[in-house]
Amino acid sequence: MQLIDIGVNLTNSSFASKEREVLERAYAAGVAQLILTGTSVQGSEQALQMCRELDESGERLFSTAGVHPHSASDWTQDTEQQLQGLLKENAVRAVGECGLDFNRDFSPRPRQEKVLHAHLALAVALQLPVFLHEREADERLLAILREYRDHLPGAVVHCFTGEKRALFSYLDMDLHIGITGWICDERRGTHLHPLMREIPRGRLMLESDAPYLLPRSLRPKPKNGRNEPAYLTEVLREVALHRGERPEDVAAHTTACARAFFSLPAIQESATF
Ligand SMILES: [Zn+2]
Repeated sequence: MQLIDIGVNLTNSSFASKEREVLERAYAAGVAQLILTGTSVQGSEQALQMCRELDESGERLFSTAGVHPHSASDWTQDTEQQLQGLLKENAVRAVGECGLDFNRDFSPRPRQEKVLHAHLALAVALQLPVFLHEREADERLLAILREYRDHLPGAVVHCFTGEKRALFSYLDMDLHIGITGWICDERRGTHLHPLMREIPRGRLMLESDAPYLLPRSLRPKPKNGRNEPAYLTEVLREVALHRGERPEDVAAHTTACARAFFSLPAIQESATF
C-alpha cells in the first residue's frame, strides 16, 4: 500500500530538527511521497530547501509555493517575482497555499481576493495546479475561480470542511478535494461522513495538514498531541469506512489521483512497507 500526503507543514517549528525521524515514520507507515506546503515566500523557500536536503532520490518530497490568505497583507511588489522563481524549480509542483479565509479574517477580505487573483494568474501563466485554502468563503472563491478555471490545469480545495452545497459546487467546477483528519473529529467533522460517497474516484486526495489536525480517533493518542504524516493511515481508515470501500482501494485511487494531479513519479514499494 502506498499513500501520498498532499499537505504537510514540515517547515513548522514543532518539527525542527526532527524532520528526518518524522519522514522515516511516514515512509514506514506507507506514506511514500509528500507535498510540503508553502504558506509564505520564506516558508516556500524553506520547503523547497527541505525537499533538496531530505530527499536525495528527488522522488519523494515535493512542495508548493504561495502565500496563505492569513498573510495576504504581507504581499508586496516583489512577492510575485519571488514566487515565480520558486515555481520554476522542479520540486515545486503547485501554486499555493492560497485562497480565502473569511472565518478568521487575519487579512482584509479585499486584500485576500487581490492576492488570490495574483496566484491564479501565476498558475495560468505557468500551467501549474493550485492548492487552495477556503474557510467560510466558498461563494467568493467559486466566483473568482470561475474566471480562471478553463485555463487552469487543476485545483484542489485542501482540507475541505464545508457543507454539501459547497462540495457539489466544487465538483461541478471539476475541482479536486483534499480530506484531512478533520473527518475524524466527532465534535465538528461528522457532517463530512455522508459526503465521502459523493466524491468520485480521481477527485479525492488525502492530507495530514501536520502538525495540525491530529486525528481525534487515533489510538493510542500521541503524548505530544502533534500530528504527523504517519497518521495519514487514520484518515484513510475513516474515509474508507464512510465510502464503503476497502482501505487498500482508497489508498490506490487517492494515490493515483495525487500522482496525476502533482505529476509525481511512480516509486517502488520499499521492503519496509
Ligand atoms: Zn489551509
